[in-house]
Amino acid sequence: MRCPHCYHAIRPSKVNQLFVQGCLREFSCPQCQVWLANTPLYLILKIIGCYGGLICGVASYNFYQYQSILLPLGLLGGVVMLVAHMMDQLHVIPEPTLKDLVK
Ligand SMILES: [Zn+2]
Repeated sequence: MRCPHCYHAIRPSKVNQLFVQGCLREFSCPQCQVWLANTPLYLILKIIGCYGGLICGVASYNFYQYQSILLPLGLLGGVVMLVAHMMDQLHVIPEPTLKDLVK
């Protein structure tokens, strides 16, 4: 992963200021000390696409009479997950907001 501010590669082992709540994470870049975060909307889309696609895929295999509906929904969930994964980039935030929630 790269810092969108200084474009240096960030090693997870070098990150020393980190706040995590669930899938959300906020951390400071070890090179430029700018706070970075991922986007909650894309994380939600990734989770919904992944589990929705898996459930529809398994259901279309077991309930073959609904296969014409469930299989395209499963494929759509996979496409949503891949697009959300590609769109999910780190962005610069002014100050950590999870700091108050973690404590
Ligand atoms: Zn940086």
